[in-house]
Amino acid sequence: MKIRKNDTVVVISGDDKGKKARVLALAPDGRRLIVEGVNYIWKHVRRTQKTPAGGRVQKEAPIEPSKLMLFCPTCNKGVKVRRTGEAPSKTRVCRKCGGQV
Ligand SMILES: [Zn+2]
Repeated sequence: MKIRKNDTVVVISGDDKGKKARVLALAPDGRRLIVEGVNYIWKHVRRTQKTPAGGRVQKEAPIEPSKLMLFCPTCNKGVKVRRTGEAPSKTRVCRKCGGQV
């Protein structure tokens, strides 16, 4: 996967298509991502000591990386990226403008 935490991505399919947002975290399954404000779901929360009120909470659900593209600030849109260099100095480069993303 080419997308990492804190990357800016563009959603390319689904209800949030066209949204630009920041990646908050890798999902617990290690294959999907939690993206800020994208793929909201209502989570039903049981009454516990931590959440005495319980009820419904709106929360981001994990999204497939295939529905996301890395955002390139130079092109001002989602782009495909290429990897260059060898570890540990590998970088991701925009395929359109060649800029580092
Ligand atoms: Zn670019």
